[in-house]
Amino acid sequence: MKAVVYEDINRLVLKECEKPKLIEDTDVILKVTTTTICSSDIHIKRGFVPRSVKGVVLGHEFVGVVEEKGAKVKNFNIGDRVAVNCETFCGECFYCKKGYVNNCIDKNGGWALGCRIDGGQGEYTRIPFADNCLTKIPDSVTDEEALFTGDLLSTGYWACKIGEIEKDDTVVVIGAGPTGLCTLLNLKLHNPKKIIVIDVDENRLELVKKNSYADIVLNPLKVDIEKEILKYTEGRGADRVFEVAGGERTFDLALKIARPNATVVLVAMYEKDQTLPLPNIYGKNLTIKFGGVDGYDCDKIMKYIEEKKIDATSLITHRMKFKDIMEAYEIFENKRDGVIKIAIDMKE
Ligand SMILES: [Zn+2]
Ligand SMILES: [Zn+2]
Repeated sequence: MKAVVYEDINRLVLKECEKPKLIEDTDVILKVTTTTICSSDIHIKRGFVPRSVKGVVLGHEFVGVVEEKGAKVKNFNIGDRVAVNCETFCGECFYCKKGYVNNCIDKNGGWALGCRIDGGQGEYTRIPFADNCLTKIPDSVTDEEALFTGDLLSTGYWACKIGEIEKDDTVVVIGAGPTGLCTLLNLKLHNPKKIIVIDVDENRLELVKKNSYADIVLNPLKVDIEKEILKYTEGRGADRVFEVAGGERTFDLALKIARPNATVVLVAMYEKDQTLPLPNIYGKNLTIKFGGVDGYDCDKIMKYIEEKKIDATSLITHRMKFKDIMEAYEIFENKRDGVIKIAIDMKE
């Protein structure tokens, strides 16, 4: 079978690989039907994910059909259409029992797929702990509608959950890229008083406006963000800030535009260390939360998708065939042609 392999820093290759086999009784082999490229794949490519392993098949955001299953897999059958959780987890360790599946201690646990074990940018892939880590796709839901369930939408869902949003909050989201947009899609479900989005990319802000994902959009190249936020918050600053951009100055910005006692959620995956300006924010009494998604709410997300309360298909700006995936990488990494997300069709 063909798959995208991370061979070394800045060297990804689409090449012939061995078709995966069941290893544990709790595994399934999935025939991947639609896959996509995530910014985390680019982070791996550039060598910024220390835990990633050279030689691994990339891909942790995909959907497929169960092709084979281990003897202990109870919840899924051959032929089931499923969305895959970006984090595979044992469900039994200290962290899993608390819902902190990102830190599952199993060797196949946490973010393993497409990072430490072969993922879903191949025609077939092995999913460990299948009963924990797959979600059935209802017949009324298409592959494209389900595609982001296990990663982007899970991240947005998790970010909003730890953000503890209240009804009268003014919430600011910094960054309207794929993760920012999925944070917005989930944010809508919490119905805060006001949602403000910040991005330098007018195309992305246009998409936000067109779909009414936010009340206000701000471009730092055009306005003074700090002043604008004060204007919209009676001079206080934002109640909740989601930093989803991971840019050069967005970490600082998030701390600046948050009001005293606000919650700042860092969703972004930084490529460099960030510095907390502790003397300056002393007395501001901020709560800062950060980390990687604990992705185990896919059933709830799939329900929202089925009920049309979440529709992330607006993120799909490009549709390409698997044979052209290296070109898709080029477009995605260099943010060409207004790309947000590329749905890669594996059927052919
Ligand atoms: Zn990802
Ligand atoms: Zn575990």
